[in-house]
Amino acid sequence: MPDSLTGRLHGDRAADFSAHVSTCERCKRELDELASYWSKLAHIRITPPGTQLRARFYQALEAYEQGRAERRSAGWSFWWPKQLAVQFALSAGCLAIGLAAGHFFSGGNASADVAELRKEIGNMRQLVTLSLLEQQSASERLRGVTWSYRTEPSDVEVLSALLRTINTDTNVDVRLAAVDAVRNFGNNSVARKGLVQALARQRSPLVEIAIVDTLTDLRAREAIPQFEQILAEEDLDINVRKRMERALEVLR
Ligand SMILES: [Zn+2]
Repeated sequence: MPDSLTGRLHGDRAADFSAHVSTCERCKRELDELASYWSKLAHIRITPPGTQLRARFYQALEAYEQGRAERRSAGWSFWWPKQLAVQFALSAGCLAIGLAAGHFFSGGNASADVAELRKEIGNMRQLVTLSLLEQQSASERLRGVTWSYRTEPSDVEVLSALLRTINTDTNVDVRLAAVDAVRNFGNNSVARKGLVQALARQRSPLVEIAIVDTLTDLRAREAIPQFEQILAEEDLDINVRKRMERALEVLR
């Protein structure tokens, strides 16, 4: 078929070919299809490469190399929170075994051991949470927010890391999750004050609404002046405005 299309079939071979195609429906269909592609190919105009081609190629190559270098240097930090989680699980397991053994063999002071174990686990949870919240990847930081639920509601370091996340994280999903997580610290006046302050810094209506809802649920009356001040802004998002007006009704 290619030979026939390119005019390289001659004599008996050409006669045999056309005799076959005239009787074989399958070959005829295939030949027609190929012939149509063949003629269309002739219409494709070959454009010479633009003058920008070389520059664009080197730009792309540079971006690729930079990405590879960043991944390589990030490799270490991706690795270590996972390692921490494993260490955490192992240490917790060892402590539990030690505690059980100590209790069994010596009949010693079990309640002091339990307190020690709790403290130890609390420290490790805090460490995992804080290090995950510092990661480059947004999904790792989300995991950090999830881990924060396992820390003590009195953990000020975790609380301030969450507030920092709400104020500075570039990812809206991470910020939203952090607002939810701060609810757990609602009894702490630092948490409520932090949320009030974070409200002024937000540029995303979604996060603003989440903060307003959280403050309303926490019955944070200290938010009232801030709400009033923000409501005075003319270019305030309409949904945020409605939510805040409702919140003021509840809080007053
Ligand atoms: Zn055939």
